[in-house]
Amino acid sequence: MNIYAHPTFDMAQRQFDLVADLLAIPDNDRGWLKFPKRALTVACPVRMDDGSTRVFAGYRVQHHFALGPTKGGLRYHPDVTLGEVAALALWMSWKCALTGLPYGGAKGGISVDARSLSPGELERLTRRYTQEVVNFIGPQVDIPAPDVGTNEQVMAWLMDTYSTHAGHAVPAVVTGKPVHLGGSLGRREATGRGVAYLAGRAMDTLGLEASGATAVVQGYGNVGAVAAQSLVKQGLKVIGVSDVGGGIHNAAGIDLRRLEAWFAEHRTILGFPEAEPIANADLLTLPCDVLVPAALERQITAENAGQLRCRVIAEGANGPTTPEADEILNRRGDVFVVPDILCNAGGVVVSYFEWVQDLQSFFWSEGEVMDKLFRILEGAFQSTLNVSRKQNLPMRTAALSLGIRRVWEAKKSRGLFP
Ligand code: NAD
Repeated sequence: MNIYAHPTFDMAQRQFDLVADLLAIPDNDRGWLKFPKRALTVACPVRMDDGSTRVFAGYRVQHHFALGPTKGGLRYHPDVTLGEVAALALWMSWKCALTGLPYGGAKGGISVDARSLSPGELERLTRRYTQEVVNFIGPQVDIPAPDVGTNEQVMAWLMDTYSTHAGHAVPAVVTGKPVHLGGSLGRREATGRGVAYLAGRAMDTLGLEASGATAVVQGYGNVGAVAAQSLVKQGLKVIGVSDVGGGIHNAAGIDLRRLEAWFAEHRTILGFPEAEPIANADLLTLPCDVLVPAALERQITAENAGQLRCRVIAEGANGPTTPEADEILNRRGDVFVVPDILCNAGGVVVSYFEWVQDLQSFFWSEGEVMDKLFRILEGAFQSTLNVSRKQNLPMRTAALSLGIRRVWEAKKSRGLFP
């Protein structure tokens, strides 16, 4: 199965193997657990504004169907490959199983720098991709959602294209839609709010006070910006943030409302006058209580793990920490890691609520959504912490073992096919 060869896929496989040894999963059961059930690669030709035609590579990977349809984001980024998408699909499976959602994992992506496209080009690319995968997705098959480089508008185009094929509106085919199209209240903020909530629970566990504590956030996108704002509401000071172009730092705390106004005008955090510029690599090693990687995979590595000066890592991104970095952090023992499949699960949990609301055409208040969200996250945090303490395991291994065990049991009960 080397069609998925990619450093991020290797990382997901290594994590699986470690937990499979721990759970004593027989060799005979491993192959059909650790590879995606199916993957589709599509070519998306798009008429550009200047009259030329460009062809973009698109992917959709579905890991398993033992518990229900598959679920996972759609990423627009120049580095997207089949292997990266497959790794992200595996992590979605373990995440959904850890939080008790009736889904297998999936992920999709297009290799494109979305920021270089006009709104019209982005719409045509999204509609073309949807047409190419139209028989591969659906409310009972596979339900996409936003990820890096995509947003509510992209989900609206996807839903519209799918619905046009079906001949009637099918809101449950995607989550993370605009609320006026059947989106859920609270979905846009859910991942970042969940990250901040779980960072707070990690601080409670260590006996750290939120008031006056400091946080650094890598990636000021959907997840990172909301996580930063929520941490401030919990009493922390955000002293550093970054986006793809670089970072900014102010040891006294960054005024996020003024940063939002700056961002709305300039579409970047860079140049914000009330903070100093800082290189992305240096941002990660700033002294702080909570570090939130909320950009891409493989940011905390063997090179910088020894130099981190935080007490908590709250992983907003998927796969931000490599297995080599995990080993270093485990040896150090002074950093509490809230692993990605737990920490950023708020997004898929509220996506699940959105899907349930769409299927029933019966919509909930934001209070109901948030209340149910925090109850699920609290339960998953407690179970992970219990396993970690009882078996003396790192939090990541504990979370993965809970997720992988549930998928293994479901697949064993059903048989080889799903
Ligand atoms: P986004 O596109 O809204 O934001 C990504 C941010 O990261 C942008 O600010 C970008 O400039 C920045 N960035 C990219 N490369 C960087 C680098 N090398 N250094 C610093 N910043 C960099 O994406 P998002 O939806 O916020 O997703 C961020 C991460 O969270 C991804 O790993 C994604 O898979 C994960 N995630 C997202 C959701 C969700 O609901 N959107 C849910 C769970 C997990």
